[in-house]
Amino acid sequence: ALNQYLAEIKGNVTVSFEFFPPRSSDMEQMFWQSIQRLSQLKPSFISVTYGANSGEHQNTYSLIKEINKRTGLVAVPHLTCINTSPWELHEIIQEYWHNGIRHIVALRGDLPPDNSSRQNITMYGLDLVVLLKKIGDFEISVAAYPEVHPEALSAQSDLINLKKKVDAGANRAITQFFFDVESYLRFRDRCLTVGIDIEIVPGIMPVFNFRQLQRFATMTNVKIPLWMNTMFDGLDLDIESSKLVGASIAIEMIKILSREGVKHFHFYTLNRDELTYTLCHIIGIRPEKITI
Ligand code: FAD
Repeated sequence: ALNQYLAEIKGNVTVSFEFFPPRSSDMEQMFWQSIQRLSQLKPSFISVTYGANSGEHQNTYSLIKEINKRTGLVAVPHLTCINTSPWELHEIIQEYWHNGIRHIVALRGDLPPDNSSRQNITMYGLDLVVLLKKIGDFEISVAAYPEVHPEALSAQSDLINLKKKVDAGANRAITQFFFDVESYLRFRDRCLTVGIDIEIVPGIMPVFNFRQLQRFATMTNVKIPLWMNTMFDGLDLDIESSKLVGASIAIEMIKILSREGVKHFHFYTLNRDELTYTLCHIIGIRPEKITI
């Protein structure tokens, strides 16, 4: 059966990789090593996050330019609108458009940890999509939440929010990471019922540090199934075994998702290449062989 699966999937799927701006010189080294290795797999694009409230827009942009220069790949900036005035956003978007950036991951952005700006939200992801489309015919990816965004009033209102982003011109939705494959599949079905016809790309998080994952999951309302606790139990200090467990979980998810018709996977690399590289290898995404 594995043989058949590999034959089915080979050449049929594409991938993209997400990175975040490194914050120290050690992290910077790891960032570029990972970009270099993963770029050999010819992803459809590499995206770089933008810390809302961090003022690091220039940082994201210079990384985008450098990735494109070093790898020749399409590099896509994330852009958030919380805590940035529409005027500043206008400037940033125009700069992107004039410099040939044609694809943007458009987000509202995370609230600051103290939640102080919750009352002052003046722009949502939808408004950013509208603004982008006013300035240029960008390809736009937006965020989607199979397990519902933590601030959403209801699952239905969250779904309608996605529908509005699609109607405003979003070309693709990338999901928050998840481990309950059923929740993704149900969400994809629900998207169809409200007429969302763009690709709902699953965001895959290959786990190598379970404690860190638990923190991420709490912040984002993502369920960690009990069986995952069992699988990682006792491995807190055992990075090597944790990576192998993380890889086996992710490959199992990818197997089910590809059987369910998923054709593109977005990997949250956390700036590391190992797990993502191995997962891609298994599904037949490999560097081109150099023949002499
Ligand atoms: P929105 O689509 O604006 O939705 C936010 C919430 O508001 C939802 O609960 C929605 O239901 C609700 N809502 C929408 N409109 C209204 C309204 N009119 N009234 C009341 N409620 C409303 N964060 C970063 O800071 N930088 C990044 O680079 C980044 N990259 C990401 C990439 C992906 C693929 C994903 C899934 C998330 C990313 N995030 C990033 C996190 C994201 O910014 C947060 O999840 C944020 O809280 C919501 O962003 P959004 O674009 O989904 O918001």
